[in-house]
Amino acid sequence: MKLDFNEAPLLAVWETTRACSLACGHCRAEAITTRDAAELSTEEGKRLLSDVSSLGGLIVILSGGDCLNRTDLEEIVAHGKGIGLRLHASPAATPLATRERLLGLRTAGLDGVIFALDGPDAAAHDSFRKAPGSFDQTLSSVRLAREAGLRVTVSTCIAEWNYRHLEGMIGLTTSLGLSCWDVYFLVPVGRLSSLRGISAQDFEDAFERLHKLSLEAPYAVKLAEAQHFKRYVLEKRSRGAFLRRQASPAEGGGEAPDQAVNAGKGLVFIDHVGNICPSRLLPLAAGNIRTHPLAETYRGAHPFRELRDPKLLKGRCGVCEYAELCSGSRARAWAVTGDFLETDPFCAYTPKAMRIASQAAG
Ligand code: SF4
Repeated sequence: MKLDFNEAPLLAVWETTRACSLACGHCRAEAITTRDAAELSTEEGKRLLSDVSSLGGLIVILSGGDCLNRTDLEEIVAHGKGIGLRLHASPAATPLATRERLLGLRTAGLDGVIFALDGPDAAAHDSFRKAPGSFDQTLSSVRLAREAGLRVTVSTCIAEWNYRHLEGMIGLTTSLGLSCWDVYFLVPVGRLSSLRGISAQDFEDAFERLHKLSLEAPYAVKLAEAQHFKRYVLEKRSRGAFLRRQASPAEGGGEAPDQAVNAGKGLVFIDHVGNICPSRLLPLAAGNIRTHPLAETYRGAHPFRELRDPKLLKGRCGVCEYAELCSGSRARAWAVTGDFLETDPFCAYTPKAMRIASQAAG
């Protein structure tokens, strides 16, 4: 199914709380230890889910912080399920992720959970997270979630520090019984700005490996903040040879082969106090659900409108023949250049128009 991203997002991410007992140095949410009194209430959260559903949205990710800090999570999930949404939660891997809690969420209608794993072993993962025991806790949470009947996604942020562990991560993830491996590429924003991403050439090499993996892996491979993967596939393979097994809506995927979800384009992020942003990595608030209708904001407010108009793109992306399909990571363009319409600086591609111009000049 192909959604019109001008009308409806495929995916809404709601940061249910910023409270988390972990304090990972790279956490985008800048997690705090206790719940913010200003975070959306149960009723506001349910209304938000109803608004997403009326807007035509299909999938909601309940993120954090650690969403398990919300004692009303089951009630919220049950509401979302009752109005036909697919719901995933992305809890932190802490002792709060008990068998009982995960079973309760499954019973309430939760479709799946997403756990973060950044390294292939305890040494790499725990030292990066600065949380001894986090690796083992994550594997245990993955097992409990599977036993509770939940689809499990592992999400890995690829950056310079762990790129060398890619093969190790493939080995680990293929052994965990996952439904989906969500590989997302660093956008240096907030606390993440202290990290370095991989080079444009490394992106191409990672695309090669992940495309191959997608043809043989026991799970769906989903790439995020790597919109130029679609250009890579079209460029290197014949049309129609897209991923054999793309992530389905149940796995948090579901974009059509000729669509790339991007900030504000198929994606909307609502932060813990209700601000409506194009993505969690492009946190430019266009309104607040307490005062602005979600539908009007997504469909017509700045910067959502501009983010969906490929004619406004600048630099290489602005003249690229793949702009409509790909358009580059708008969050990364913003994080690196300060302008969300600029070139995605980590794309190695030279558009045809630029090659022709350079040949004519030279
Ligand atoms: S130049 Fe921009 S639009 Fe073209 S493939 Fe690269 S990121 Fe995508």
